[in-house]
Amino acid sequence: MELSCQDKNKIAIAGCGPAGIFCAISIVKLFDDVDFKDYSITLFDKSEHLKTLLVTGGGRCNLSNSINDIRDFASNYPRGEKFLYSIFSRFSNFDTLEFFKSLRIETYTQSDGRIFPVSNSADDVRNKMLKFLKSRKNIFFKKKAVLNSSTINDYNFKIISAGSRSTESLIKSFKHNPVPFKKSLCALKIDNFIYPKGVSVKSIDGDFLFTEDGITGPLAFKISSLNAFLDFPYEISIKLFDENKLIELAHLNPKKSAGSIVSKFIPKSLAKVLVKTYDKNICEISEKVLRKYSVLNLTVTGIRNCGEIVNAGGVNLDEIDKNCKSKLNQNLWFCGEILNIDGYCGGFNLQNCWSTAYIVAKNVVESIMY
Ligand SMILES: Cc1cc2nc3c(=O)[nH]c(=O)nc-3n(C[C@H](O)[C@H](O)[C@H](O)COP(=O)(O)OP(=O)(O)OC[C@H]3O[C@@H](n4cnc5c(N)ncnc54)[C@H](O)[C@@H]3O)c2cc1C
Repeated sequence: MELSCQDKNKIAIAGCGPAGIFCAISIVKLFDDVDFKDYSITLFDKSEHLKTLLVTGGGRCNLSNSINDIRDFASNYPRGEKFLYSIFSRFSNFDTLEFFKSLRIETYTQSDGRIFPVSNSADDVRNKMLKFLKSRKNIFFKKKAVLNSSTINDYNFKIISAGSRSTESLIKSFKHNPVPFKKSLCALKIDNFIYPKGVSVKSIDGDFLFTEDGITGPLAFKISSLNAFLDFPYEISIKLFDENKLIELAHLNPKKSAGSIVSKFIPKSLAKVLVKTYDKNICEISEKVLRKYSVLNLTVTGIRNCGEIVNAGGVNLDEIDKNCKSKLNQNLWFCGEILNIDGYCGGFNLQNCWSTAYIVAKNVVESIMY
């Protein structure tokens, strides 16, 4: 029996979080542009399609970030920066916003550069993305379908977007050698914790907050991300303030207590812990000791999950080409967080999903058409 085109052009997308669903929509739009209909897409997910989007941005869905320059944008990924530079030059954050506009998802930018849907609702974004696909006859949804390499053997175009909460063995089953998954964007547990709980600090390196047993907030997340592959315990140094300004102020106010002067730069409760000679006149303390107060040295003993957690690790970028196509397996692509790519907080992780998903979609469409 002769195969119909739809049978020949069977696409499987395995894992339907943000990356998988964005990839499916992109394929449909790209085929629509050339009025090509002879294909099918089957969307496999072990749970519900696009459920993982619902928790993003605390339910508001921080879709992306408004950083203008592609190189600056890519510098927000401790893993994947170079690879994404090429991806973003072909499908950027601005292309993404246009794409969402075409799905009637309007966006706005917060003063810190984070981009959200006008609806402030991840649920609304999810519904609009799924609605687009559900209106098509050649798109098939398979939920509660746990994927392994044999599930999708029959499909001639395979896209794996199972995220970084999938397993390394899944990646291995496609003959790839994954970089082990490690948690990133976490709070940090600190050894010998003597700091004021609940106090927030604006340091030169970034903002953070003391928790019960460590630190959390943007700086803590960034440190956990940068050090995702380090073994515990490891040492960190946080630059709290400009030490030269402290020396300057000490010279101007020699009779004031060291603690009161240091408290001009950091919260008093923290100064009380850091400044051993809190009540002494500042002129009695050497410059060398004063300078030390500007740095907080901590020993990190572990991490705590909170808020946006992503995983470093996943598909080794050396084993895929610039279109995220496998170099080891025929007609196999990867996109989203399953790749060894992860970014800081601020919309960067979803942008990785949107951009890699689009590039995969384009390459799949081109493979079918030409
Ligand atoms: C609480 C929280 C808040 C976040 N907020 C933001 C934010 O505001 N902005 C931002 O940029 N990033 C945010 N992130 C990160 C962002 O959610 C992820 O980067 C993104 O969801 C990754 O998308 P993905 O499609 O690659 O993978 P996932 O979202 O993990 O989706 C993978 C899909 O594959 C399915 N799957 C897995 N294994 C299998 C299998 N074996 N068989 C079949 N299906 C499988 C899963 O059920 C899932 O639906 C947040 C993360 C968390 C945890």
